[in-house]
Amino acid sequence: MDEIISSDLHGRLGKIALPKGDVITPTLLPVIDPRKNLISAQDMKNKFDFNFVITSAYLYYKRYGMPDDLKSIHETLDFDGNIMMDSGAYQVLVYGDVDIDPIQSLQIQSNLKADVGVILDVPTPPEDTYTQAKQKVEETVRRIGLSLTHIEEHPETIWTLPIQGGKNTKLIEYYLNELKQKEYLSHFKFHALGSVAPIMSQYDFLSLFSMIKKSRELLPHNIPFHLFGAGHPMIFPFVVALGCDTFDSAAYILYAKENRYMTNTGTYHLHELFELPCNCEICSNWTPKELLDTDVDTKIRNVALHNLYASHAELKRIRVSLRDGNLWELLVRRSKAHPSLYKAFKYLANGSDIEYLEYGTPITKQTGLKISGEDSFYRPEYSKGRKRIYARYTPNNSKVILLISSGRNNPVELLNLRSELEDLIKSKTDEMDFVFLIPFFGLLPLELIETYPFSQYVFSAVLSEGLLDNLKPEIEKFLKIFQYKEIVLCPLDTWENSEILIKLIKEVLTKKNISLKEKNFREL
Ligand SMILES: [Zn+2]
Repeated sequence: MDEIISSDLHGRLGKIALPKGDVITPTLLPVIDPRKNLISAQDMKNKFDFNFVITSAYLYYKRYGMPDDLKSIHETLDFDGNIMMDSGAYQVLVYGDVDIDPIQSLQIQSNLKADVGVILDVPTPPEDTYTQAKQKVEETVRRIGLSLTHIEEHPETIWTLPIQGGKNTKLIEYYLNELKQKEYLSHFKFHALGSVAPIMSQYDFLSLFSMIKKSRELLPHNIPFHLFGAGHPMIFPFVVALGCDTFDSAAYILYAKENRYMTNTGTYHLHELFELPCNCEICSNWTPKELLDTDVDTKIRNVALHNLYASHAELKRIRVSLRDGNLWELLVRRSKAHPSLYKAFKYLANGSDIEYLEYGTPITKQTGLKISGEDSFYRPEYSKGRKRIYARYTPNNSKVILLISSGRNNPVELLNLRSELEDLIKSKTDEMDFVFLIPFFGLLPLELIETYPFSQYVFSAVLSEGLLDNLKPEIEKFLKIFQYKEIVLCPLDTWENSEILIKLIKEVLTKKNISLKEKNFREL
């Protein structure tokens, strides 16, 4: 990466300097056919600012034969932006084999002066057994070894390391460790995860997420990370949040050929739509019926253009979210698009991978956080906050007042609303500590309420069972670490949620040798 403008979760807004101009990431590389396209690469650049596209060295070979080095792929496609060439591995994944060898594939890419090239690896589709996949991984390692001389002799191309191993992430680990041991990694200035297209079409997003995460953990972050075959825009925010800088997709045109109309949350068949729910240049001027009634090429081109508009709009939304620091909120919204996506998101939201998502999340942000409920309990801003409290807070007294709030007003607002409470706290701080209970966070010492993000939020105040299940162990942990001997529960509003929260704390403290009282704050 040549510049990182901002980051959030494990994603980043950045810039890659390429031979035909800088590329702002995250971005999509539309897949272009080497010969015939209903939407040209130059149109992609002019209409959508896509100045980085991908085409296939193998398809070029099938269409035109072995190229000499007289005409670049840019001249063939009449395109002045950056071009990545895939080696043919995608065709191996789909059709089982290709009739060129790894060195021929590299030669095609070099003769055509690809800006970014890829070595011909062997994909590991999800149906492979462990043994089959391991053999393929070993063959890819062997092919990398064979390719190094060509790579060293052609430094004008930025060479990409394909990552194989498939859904068995132990094999990804084995593969990358082999490459490290053989000192192959330094030859590559781009990394790209392969074999995900069938996993994506099976909606196996959990496997996809763990493949990205495993690869990202084992590879240096200064190198751009590409995902081969990202498919649908509804997956874009997730793969960005997990660390993908670029991804390619032919879905815009493949879907159009089947009358499938993309939105950022799903797909419609043109026949199902009575109007087009979008304001792009196509949807503003056509009806579904007009599209279905027109000639095939016009229909495909127009639906593909809409699909690109939908993909492009989602990319821009993601980049804005990365800049504003609210990518998590976009994930929460998008996770509702499909049950499989929700399942995979819940895996991210359950706290087990939290350090991975904390990686790029800044300690402070310019914007407050929108908290709908349990989906945000383990968002990285709060998990980082809890860790800071557990590591650094020191109680001043053995007695603590737990100020039970619904979370509807943040602690700073609560004190502003009740000046008598503020006065009381000031007069009692030598005798007792004051700690706020915030339902979506846990216990927050008074001294920290102004620190980001503890009072910079808006909360729905919906206390779902899942939220309370998350809250309970955090209260237990806090009280275990800080060893208060005397606890006074002090509800700050008469709202029904106080009762639920008091019941929860009492459950936590059952059988513990701690004095527990309940008082109105005026009785303290
Ligand atoms: Zn549209």
